[in-house]
Amino acid sequence: MANFVLQVPRTLRSFSLSATSNGASVGGPQSGGNGGPVIVELPIEQIRRPLMRTRANDPHKVKELMDSIEEIGLQVPIDVLEVDGVYYGFSGCHRYEAHQRLGLPTIRCKVRRGTKETLRHHLR
Ligand code: ADP
Repeated sequence: MANFVLQVPRTLRSFSLSATSNGASVGGPQSGGNGGPVIVELPIEQIRRPLMRTRANDPHKVKELMDSIEEIGLQVPIDVLEVDGVYYGFSGCHRYEAHQRLGLPTIRCKVRRGTKETLRHHLR
């Protein structure tokens, strides 16, 4: 059997990582010290969606995604912005709703860190 070593970047070693079937880590990412995005599995309820009520999803798209996610899993993580330890989602609305409807507790996210100014920009 092949042995492999999981190389965890120094910047990620300050919090616990646990591997999941899709290779993402679980828990708070505190996105990498170099400011680059990190891929993590976040609890659905930890992601705020400030624009959710203003943008309606296409129910047909959501249903198709639910079927596909059940069959092959989420293939492309949703983009999430982290500002002062709070997570905000502005896109990936159909994937997010598909996860909610499937009752999945977590969703794979590409998290990048931003400032309050970045957040204000998204809310405009
Ligand atoms: P969203 O609002 O989530 O971005 P879209 O319908 O605009 O919804 O796009 C769906 C996205 O979901 C596409 O970028 C597609 O690549 C991605 N995706 C991720 N996982 C799957 C999957 N299992 N089946 C289908 N599409 C998927």
